[in-house]
Amino acid sequence: MESRLRFDNRFIRELPGDTDRSPRRRQVLHACWTPAFPTPVAAPQLLAHSPEVAAQLGFTESDIASPDFAAVVGGNQLIDGMVPYAACYGGHQFGNWAGQLGDGRAISLGEVVNDAGERLELQLKGAGPTPFSRTADGRAVLRSSIREFLCSEAMHHLGVPTTRALSLVTTGEGVMRDMFYDGNAHLEPGAVVCRVAPSFIRFGNFEILTSRGDLDLLRQLVDFTIARDFPQLAHDDVDARRAAWFREVCERTAVMIVHWMRVGFVHGVMNTDNMSILGLTIDYGPYGWLDEYDPEWTPNTTDAGGRRYRYGQQPAVAQWNLVQLANAIAPLFPTNDALQSGLDRYVERYRDEFARMTCAKFGFEENTDAAQAIIEEGYALLQECQLDHTRFFRALGDLPDMLPDGSPATLLGDVSYDDVQFESHRARIDLFVQTWHASLPTHDAHAARRARMHAVNPRFVFRNYLAQQAIELAESGDPSMIHTLLTVLRRPYDEQPAHAEFAARRPEWARHKAGCSMLSCSS
Ligand code: AMP
Ligand code: MG
Repeated sequence: MESRLRFDNRFIRELPGDTDRSPRRRQVLHACWTPAFPTPVAAPQLLAHSPEVAAQLGFTESDIASPDFAAVVGGNQLIDGMVPYAACYGGHQFGNWAGQLGDGRAISLGEVVNDAGERLELQLKGAGPTPFSRTADGRAVLRSSIREFLCSEAMHHLGVPTTRALSLVTTGEGVMRDMFYDGNAHLEPGAVVCRVAPSFIRFGNFEILTSRGDLDLLRQLVDFTIARDFPQLAHDDVDARRAAWFREVCERTAVMIVHWMRVGFVHGVMNTDNMSILGLTIDYGPYGWLDEYDPEWTPNTTDAGGRRYRYGQQPAVAQWNLVQLANAIAPLFPTNDALQSGLDRYVERYRDEFARMTCAKFGFEENTDAAQAIIEEGYALLQECQLDHTRFFRALGDLPDMLPDGSPATLLGDVSYDDVQFESHRARIDLFVQTWHASLPTHDAHAARRARMHAVNPRFVFRNYLAQQAIELAESGDPSMIHTLLTVLRRPYDEQPAHAEFAARRPEWARHKAGCSMLSCSS
């Protein structure tokens, strides 16, 4: 197993590390990282793994079956070439500067370069405390680890830029958590996820350095990030290179957010420490998926007051976060022009991608005024009638070329969470469907349009109640639903009739249930 992985640990080789090598909690100054070793666990047991990520890294199926594999990805054993560390970052949390945060329960093991030349960093989440852990334990519970493992893989297969997950390991140890911070702490099963990404650098890695006036280190980190993670930006002129880099970060962030809006994903904690410099979805905590379309919805109970991170606000929050990044790197720019034009580019790119995306969801090939009016009415009906975001678009794609006699609203099937609203809007829904139908490109055969719409409108998303069911079963000793969901969510755009139950509307029991509609940061 060892000889198959080739490590090239550029982050720790090229950037300054902490000279204090002790594990005690502290401010880590004048360094981008500090050594941090996983704390061994009692009984690491592999619960699930992603075959694609394993293959990408070069692990064989027999590697994965060996006890060594669970030991490595559970934090009990290191492979030759791994030099574990925790990265230093800060962040704006809920709009306020929070100072140093850092990898408090994430430990990077090293950067693998695979046979295809791809760089893939391995990072354990929940492998024990680091100097950044403050008063917390550095551990993660099974429920949040299942959510991270399955959701990041689901997002990847939906075509959303994201960090990946190699493995999910139970530790055989309990972890004390107070899920809703209401004095009801109890022991929960512990777990470790091994996540994988080309880079785990966040906006906050830059912010912390500027906040401390450490501009030499800021310059090093910026130029390192460009050289390692954006090698295509090869301008000779350093100012032009940094400007192109910021613009690229803005563009990637715009593209990522449009994908979230397309699939109905709500991140839940869009703090700047949870924003990847590569424009990847990162840090799966109290995220959620829209069932009924509601731009006001946030899954995070910690965010319930201000709803800062609600679905409809995500584009604006990403922009706010980019402004914080721009402020952090501004000392390296001769004027603010390039930063402002990068931020402007975010707005334009978001607007263009969003328009393209919504047209595609409705099956339009061109963004005309007529198409825009229909799209607007479609979203109004989604909201007013509490229609299921995923099922609605899929049903639209399934509508036949010739609408039969009768009320077209009926053809949409089980899409509404509010029958009263649905019935009182029936005439409007009928008119919407007829108008939409009449405005589709006439050359378009049904099969072609259906395929086109189904390619952007998933049938399966990782609904909150599905996650909760998989968690409850796993906590009672049966991990089978994790495996089933992993299989189904690997092909989210395919019909998969044998798995129709996973495409169902949220059942009534899950409407207000903890874990389904309410989540917290406690994980
Ligand atoms: P998050 O809300 O998960 O993005 O985490 C914010 C900060 O808190 C990061 O610095 C995390 O590393 C840290 N953190 C969260 N949970 C724990 C934990 N159980 N132990 C140590 N640090 C944690
Ligand atoms: Mg985080």
